[in-house]
Amino acid sequence: MSTMTAPELHPDLQNFLSKGPHQLLIGGKRQDAASGRSFEAFNPATGEAIAKVSEGAAEDVDRAVKAARAALSGPWGKMTPAERERVLHKLADLVEKNAEALAQLESLNNGKTIREAKSGDVPLSVALLRYYGGWPTKIHGETTPVSVPYYPGAKFLHYTVREPIGVVGAIIPWNFPLLMAVERLAPVLACGNTIVLKPAEQTPLSALRLGELCLEAGVPEGVVNVVPGFGPTAGAALAAHPDVDKITFTGSTETGREIVKASAGNLKKLSLELGGKSPNIVFADADLEAAAKGMFMGIFYNQGQTCSAGSRVFVERSKFDELVNALAEKAKTIRQGPGLDPKTHMGPLVSQEQKDRVLKYIEHGKTEGAKLLAGGEAAPGKGYFVKPTVFSDVKDSMKIAREEIFGPVVAVMPFDNVEEVVTRANDTPFGLVAGVWTKDIKKAHRLTQQLKAGVVWVNCYQFVDAAAPWGGYKQSGYGREKGQYAIEEYTQVKSVWVDLN
Ligand code: ADP
Ligand code: MG
Repeated sequence: MSTMTAPELHPDLQNFLSKGPHQLLIGGKRQDAASGRSFEAFNPATGEAIAKVSEGAAEDVDRAVKAARAALSGPWGKMTPAERERVLHKLADLVEKNAEALAQLESLNNGKTIREAKSGDVPLSVALLRYYGGWPTKIHGETTPVSVPYYPGAKFLHYTVREPIGVVGAIIPWNFPLLMAVERLAPVLACGNTIVLKPAEQTPLSALRLGELCLEAGVPEGVVNVVPGFGPTAGAALAAHPDVDKITFTGSTETGREIVKASAGNLKKLSLELGGKSPNIVFADADLEAAAKGMFMGIFYNQGQTCSAGSRVFVERSKFDELVNALAEKAKTIRQGPGLDPKTHMGPLVSQEQKDRVLKYIEHGKTEGAKLLAGGEAAPGKGYFVKPTVFSDVKDSMKIAREEIFGPVVAVMPFDNVEEVVTRANDTPFGLVAGVWTKDIKKAHRLTQQLKAGVVWVNCYQFVDAAAPWGGYKQSGYGREKGQYAIEEYTQVKSVWVDLN
């Protein structure tokens, strides 16, 4: 563990933190929770509390939904598409202007490295706002050449219109707190909806700051409401609320199932981005240096806390020892420390709970007989640090090869031929992403067709973009975020008939 050379927190961030307790944002006003309760947000690098946050629950969610419903028919509903674009671009500029303070806040509350927050989370958030900032004037329906076979000589004008869905509830996880919030907010606003955002209880701060920036950007009151709180209370109330039209959720498959059940009451629409246990497949004919980097980034980016983690690495047998040993050696050199320290390569996990969970999986790996090549234990210190961990001699049936760990733990396995590796790669209830490393383009494209995953990366890994759709096959969820596919998620189609007979 490196000792922290503590950088001064940005004055805007100091100012934000000093304003606590951080209240809910409902109808454009900061408000206490109805219960008067609050909870603490922590710095995972030290385990110390950094802020007090109002704890929203059912009554607050209800107030927020009412505000969001009312805002649909207020100034927001009357804005032209061009005016909505201007608001989104203003918000993009504000996020960009506050990039340094926001990156520090992400690092402070989530534990991620400032490097990754600055190169990933914040610029991608800005890019999403700019991308969706261009959409409002381009969301249109079509005219349809209808025939109506049972109506001889039919003459109709038929057209479709894309309308907002209405009130969207967003329940998001703690691994990319700002990015996940923006990924929902941007298309939700582009399509003219309103939103009630429930950030994860571990990481409520950047969503609250984003809510403030929305008001500054001219988003009318009540359009963006932020209600921090816990999953079984605030989250469950939002998922079950009879006046919420759609829930967009990212999180565990287990919680996704709860959300599906809760949505049944009013049959609200859902998009779900759930867990993964993704295969990253390296053939002997690959650019091995690039593949080694891809294996490393694939599992260790964001402390392994990505739904797209390449947590099952398959290496063709002739190169297996070479690559697995290189990965283990590189894992041992990772400099762990507080995310805010610019020298840190890997920060802490988000919480004590997550640390315990990951350590438990490591114990399973050991007792089930996998061979530990690196890590395998907590790192010393008060924070929630787990050493980057590499297992080889992993069997497909082992827990560490089947369940999502959501931490810096990788299972590396050899394979002998294409058919075998495709079968093994697909032998999982998940289907979020997959990686393929080879210089043989036929093989690469055959695999992109055969792998059951919503995203396939060829000779690269962990790439995302505002314009590229993101979502899973199988139990990794349904619906797509990002790109024009999200426009479909946040609008509904009306079919209009005009009789010209
Ligand atoms: P984890 O357990 O790793 O935190 P979850 O999928 O449970 O992952 O959490 C992701 C998000 O879902 C968080 O915002 C959390 O508060 C919320 N959540 C958890 N349980 C529920 C639930 N029963 N209903 C609605 N939201 C929930
Ligand atoms: Mg949970």
